[in-house]
Amino acid sequence: MSTAWDYAPAPEARDIVKIQERYGLFIGGKFVEPGSGERYTTIDPAREEPLSEIAQAGKADVDRAVRAARDAFANGWSGLRPSERAKYLFRVARLLQERSREFAVLESLNAGKPIRESRDVDVPLAAAHFFYYAGWADKLEYAFPNRKPRPVGVTGQIIPWNFPLLMLAWKIAPALAAGNTVVLKPAETTPLSALLFCDVLRQAELPPGVVNIITGDGRTGAELVSHPDVDKIAFTGSTEVGKAIQRNLAGTGKRLTLELGGKAANIVFDDAPLDQAVEGIVNGIYFNQGHVCCAGSRLLVQESIYEAVVAKLKRRMATLRVGDPLDKNTDVGAINSKQQLEKITALVQSGVDEGAEIYQPPCKLPERGYWFVPTVFTNVAQSYRIAQEEIFGPVLSVLTFRTPDEAIEKANNTPYGLSAGVWTEKGSRILAMAQKLRAGVVWANTYNRFDPASPFGGYKESGFGREGGRHGLEPYVVLDDA
Ligand code: NDP
Repeated sequence: MSTAWDYAPAPEARDIVKIQERYGLFIGGKFVEPGSGERYTTIDPAREEPLSEIAQAGKADVDRAVRAARDAFANGWSGLRPSERAKYLFRVARLLQERSREFAVLESLNAGKPIRESRDVDVPLAAAHFFYYAGWADKLEYAFPNRKPRPVGVTGQIIPWNFPLLMLAWKIAPALAAGNTVVLKPAETTPLSALLFCDVLRQAELPPGVVNIITGDGRTGAELVSHPDVDKIAFTGSTEVGKAIQRNLAGTGKRLTLELGGKAANIVFDDAPLDQAVEGIVNGIYFNQGHVCCAGSRLLVQESIYEAVVAKLKRRMATLRVGDPLDKNTDVGAINSKQQLEKITALVQSGVDEGAEIYQPPCKLPERGYWFVPTVFTNVAQSYRIAQEEIFGPVLSVLTFRTPDEAIEKANNTPYGLSAGVWTEKGSRILAMAQKLRAGVVWANTYNRFDPASPFGGYKESGFGREGGRHGLEPYVVLDDA
């Protein structure tokens, strides 16, 4: 008699989402045709099916968007009473909540992420960011005591494909709260939630030109960075592109914040509650298919509990459900693009070639779409590429340590410095570790926990500047003497 109980399919209905056949660029409060005349197709990575035709903004389009943002900045938005600005942000937050299911389904369709995550994490957190910064809009002088904050001007914002709506909220909410206007470029592969967001802006009656959304590939981003009338660039993405942007802006006087990659250590001590830690390890690396800049991609386990942790981890991995992002039982969805799948596959092969031991649970993948089985490597040396480079996929490398000092040495042995996790029952040890870890965020007995009130950002090659919290306002204000 079979004892295996399978899940019945639990698909989320997708008819709540009306995707247009083609989209223009959202400039000056309305959709306009791209002057470039160029378009590309955005797809559903789980089915490799086209979803819509997207405009590729060229140089003249970028210029048009920046001019609309400048005009809105000079003629109304920057001089608006802060409590009025707050009202728009509150409206946007409430509209995101009201339309949350629509956004969640669209995000899962275009990005490949499980509906459970887009529904319970991405969309609620995006709304929470707008609520949070709405609260700051008329209290900026309390955020910066004894200084007189004023807006920076026109901000150019470039975001990646791993959290399309959430990254948009992280960028737009503080910029508007501080009185700036925005030109935002979503990632090439995931423009649809940003385009739906334009409808929210119209519903909220945000004045035209305050937020402009221009779609396109890296060329559009580069044009936005180079535009002479942009006062500040906020970028989240790869370290390589971040460095290129920094070079481009050197000497221009434009402000810059960079939120780049990571190779975080998730450190488990022998006194940690192991079952809870294993949940944290799984959440740390398999959440959002591992497409997370702060993913806990290096697991550091104290030697005495190594075998127990790895055994529990493998058992837990075998229960992960990989497949249709729109199925409410899915834990791990589709890889965002063919290009990213190729990158993950190549890095995993390098791990095998260099001598690490690979484990992948038995797992039936859908025939179409881009998929990667949750993977763990043991027997990993610190010098291996899988322990050094950001894989940005569901791939974990396990290393061991004996003493807290060794854990810190190994955790900090990376060019990155975005995040870390510590699992132990001793509060004093948590504080001691957090002091010594060169990471912008250190989670204790949890992982991948986000809150709009908490600043996020990195050291070293993970970038500079903070998003979230009061710190997240700083890049968007000029502080004059009071
Ligand atoms: P990119 O850094 O290329 O993309 C981030 C954003 O920058 C996208 O909107 C992109 O547009 C845009 N962009 C690309 N080139 C330029 C340029 N020259 N000037 C200005 N903007 C530009 O990341 P990828 O999507 O190529 O991913 C590559 C790797 O980067 C991943 O495998 C992962 O390791 C890492 N990554 C890290 C992220 C993080 O949050 N830290 C997020 C995303 C990726 P377009 O989408 O059209 O390329």
